[in-house]
Amino acid sequence: MIGPAPYNSKERYWKVRCKCGYEGFRRAGHVRRGISTRCHKCRIRATRGPNSKYWKGGKFISGEFITKIKNSAKYRNKEFTISIVDLENQWSK
Ligand SMILES: [Zn+2]
Repeated sequence: MIGPAPYNSKERYWKVRCKCGYEGFRRAGHVRRGISTRCHKCRIRATRGPNSKYWKGGKFISGEFITKIKNSAKYRNKEFTISIVDLENQWSK
């Protein structure tokens, strides 16, 4: 967060700077709650990437991907027994 933006609107805006260098304006209320200092790209990365607390996958593979495989295995009446770790071992070979 850099400081108040020179805006004269109903809502107060803050100028924010994201870790990645992006600068933009966010509503002051959002900034105060600590949720909007990130730019859109980084927010997506934070909620979908491996560093996110919502990330259910492994180091490379997303939980979504695993779910997809599991569903298709079920569809073909196959047991899905491979774990994310096994898959990733395959992946890195
Ligand atoms: Zn960013």
